[in-house]
Amino acid sequence: MRARSLLFVGPSSTGRRLIAEWYASYLNCENRDAPCGHCSSCQRFPSDHPDFLVIAPGETTSGGRLKRKREIRIGQLVSRTGEDNQPLSHWLEQRPLFKHKVGVIDQAETLTLSAANAFLKMLEEPPSYTSIILIAPSPQAILPTLASRCTVVRFGTVDTDLYRDLAPHPDLRLGRIGKLETARQDLDNFRELQHQVHDFVLGLSKDLAISLEAAETLQKAWDNTEESRSADLLRDELRGLPAVLYAQAEDALARFEEALSAYVSAELAVSALTLELRSLFRSAGYKAG
Ligand SMILES: [Zn+2]
Repeated sequence: MRARSLLFVGPSSTGRRLIAEWYASYLNCENRDAPCGHCSSCQRFPSDHPDFLVIAPGETTSGGRLKRKREIRIGQLVSRTGEDNQPLSHWLEQRPLFKHKVGVIDQAETLTLSAANAFLKMLEEPPSYTSIILIAPSPQAILPTLASRCTVVRFGTVDTDLYRDLAPHPDLRLGRIGKLETARQDLDNFRELQHQVHDFVLGLSKDLAISLEAAETLQKAWDNTEESRSADLLRDELRGLPAVLYAQAEDALARFEEALSAYVSAELAVSALTLELRSLFRSAGYKAG
C-alpha cells in the first residue's frame, strides 16, 4: 500500500520540494512512462496543477512593520469561522480533478503548535485519493506527534558534476541541488548578482559614496532573489581574505543575517554591514582588488 503521509527530511536545497513535485506529477500522469512531461496533467506542473498544493510559512506583521520571522498558521491548514481562504484540509477533502491530490507543507518546522495539533487527524487518516508531504530539516525539527504519523524519507547532498557550468557557485561545493537548479533556470540573474557582489567588495576599499552606492545596488538585487543565496555569494567572495580578517568579516555577516531574520529593514542592515566591513578592512590595512 502506498504511504499517504510522508515526511521529507534533509538540509535545505537537497531536492526535497523538487521530488515532492515529481511524485505528484508521477501519480497524476496519464501515460505509462510517468511522469511523461507532456500529457494534460504533466503540463500543468508545478504551478498550475489543480491537484498539487504547497503550503508555506507566510509573513507575519505586527504594528505595521514587516516581520521576517515566518510561521505556518492554523488558518492555512483548517477552516476557522470568519476566514474565507481555502485551508489545506478542506482542499484535501475534495476529489481530485486528475487522479490523486498531493498537499505539501513546506518548512513544516515553522508550524505553530496550534496549527500542528489541528492537522493531526488529517495526517493520520487522509482520504484515499490524497497524499500529504511534510518537508523539514529533520524529524526532530517538528512535533513528535506529527513525525510519528509519517513515513520518513531522508535526503542528502548530491554529486554536483552535472552543474559544473555554474562554477563558482557556492552551492556546488555544498551539493545543494535545489539552489543549483534555481540558479540554472535563472542563470543571467545569478551572474548579475555575482557581479554586484564582486563590485560591492571592491567598493569597500573605495570612497564611502561609491561604497554605499555599490551596497544599494546589491541590496536591490537582493530583494529580487532569495536572501540566503546572495549572503552565501558574499561569504564566498570574502573567502579570499587573510584568515583573521575573514573570521571578523564572517562574524559581521552572521550579525547581518541575524538582523535580517529579526526585524531590521534590509536597507539598514546592508548599510550597517558595509560600514562594518569598511572599518575592518581599514584597520587590517587591507585593500580589495
Ligand atoms: Zn504525463
